[in-house]
Amino acid sequence: MRIHLCGVRGSTPAPGAEFLRYGGHTSCVAVAHDDGDAPTLILDAGTGLRRVTGLLGGPPFAGTILLTHLHWDHVHGLPFFAAGDRADARADLLLPDQDGGAQAAELLARGMSPPHFPIGPSGLRGRWSFATIAPGTFKAEGFTVEAVEVPHKGGRTFGYRVCDGHSVIAYVPDHCPTELGPGPEGWGEYHPAALALADGADLLIHDAFWLSEEVAPQALLGHAAADYAVGLARRAHARRVLLAHHKPDRTDEALGRLAARYRADPSITVAAEGQIIGC
Ligand SMILES: [Zn+2]
Ligand SMILES: [Zn+2]
Repeated sequence: MRIHLCGVRGSTPAPGAEFLRYGGHTSCVAVAHDDGDAPTLILDAGTGLRRVTGLLGGPPFAGTILLTHLHWDHVHGLPFFAAGDRADARADLLLPDQDGGAQAAELLARGMSPPHFPIGPSGLRGRWSFATIAPGTFKAEGFTVEAVEVPHKGGRTFGYRVCDGHSVIAYVPDHCPTELGPGPEGWGEYHPAALALADGADLLIHDAFWLSEEVAPQALLGHAAADYAVGLARRAHARRVLLAHHKPDRTDEALGRLAARYRADPSITVAAEGQIIGC
């Protein structure tokens, strides 16, 4: 697999001179089968989705978009995805089933339709389909995907485990493990769903919104600490961990200090927009 990090910021984009190195686009990861292939599987549609058009280099997008959940930082790139919004594009968008059983297009339209935005999901050009999914295993674009529910805040959220038959990546950008208890260090529980997602993965891309000293165990913060992501990778025997979904005001300087904490261990990397990882 080849993994393109197109957006690694959480909550809201972070433009400006202090955010050039790690990037300001919100959550989006594009996955291609191998070097030279076009990405066909997109994980989340944050503003980083705009970068996928450039990766494709002219042709339309043809593939599947998996949303972990429906928060703005994971969907706001959708109407700005030029390679997907054209007559010859094909996009199958899957999102977690929410309480109440609403249809996928209806759920998306709650945040993307007039008066909030000029068009609704049906206004995207090309062959778009929208569907909800339940936890479980399915095939998409030649990958085997496992969807597992994780605690977050405000809406049902999945983590995804993606396998191409050789390698496994686990994608858990929004995860609040303190919702299930403080865990051994106070950074949250290493619960069965998180361990199952990360189990033996070649690459774990995980929420690192907080520094461990910022986590108040009694509060439901919605996110995880970098040290929790590292602890999860160790416990689940993941080979590499990418710390992602950076707090929007975490500058390049601050993220550089975070990277310095883990400098002794090459299996831990602070995710940077534009990074390409072979897996
Ligand atoms: Zn998020
Ligand atoms: Zn979220």
